[in-house]
Amino acid sequence: MPMFVDTTPPGQCLFCRLIAGEIPSARVYEDELTLAFMDIGQCNPGHVLVAVKRHAANLLELTEEEAGAVMRTARRVALAVRDTFDPPGLTLLQANGREGDQTVFHFHMHVVPRHADDGIALTWPRKEPPFAVLQDYAQRLHGALAGA
Ligand SMILES: [Zn+2]
Repeated sequence: MPMFVDTTPPGQCLFCRLIAGEIPSARVYEDELTLAFMDIGQCNPGHVLVAVKRHAANLLELTEEEAGAVMRTARRVALAVRDTFDPPGLTLLQANGREGDQTVFHFHMHVVPRHADDGIALTWPRKEPPFAVLQDYAQRLHGALAGA
């Protein structure tokens, strides 16, 4: 993924300023909790970002309501992208933390129209552990969810 470098000083979040209208953006859609606007990088025509209006650095800082609102808006935008640009594929991408390839530390989800051989690469190594390891992971997560 080509890296966008956010040079915004601490305490002056780039997307908070964009949402407040202090810096320009090509707005697509907004509701009470989310704002969708064109990504300046435009991997393909119709590449949109869906951000939460309240400052939340990442997925872990969203409320349940915001998390639902983001997916609702992403779906609405995806339908508009289909109707407008008619890409044969579409990828949702949402990154958390530097190690997760997040570059702007205000929650956002990419809605990316996709085409054959469009130069976008999403790859990861398959490690395929034994089934007992999968069961152990599942049990630990199930325990964490039960305690939540
Ligand atoms: Zn922010």
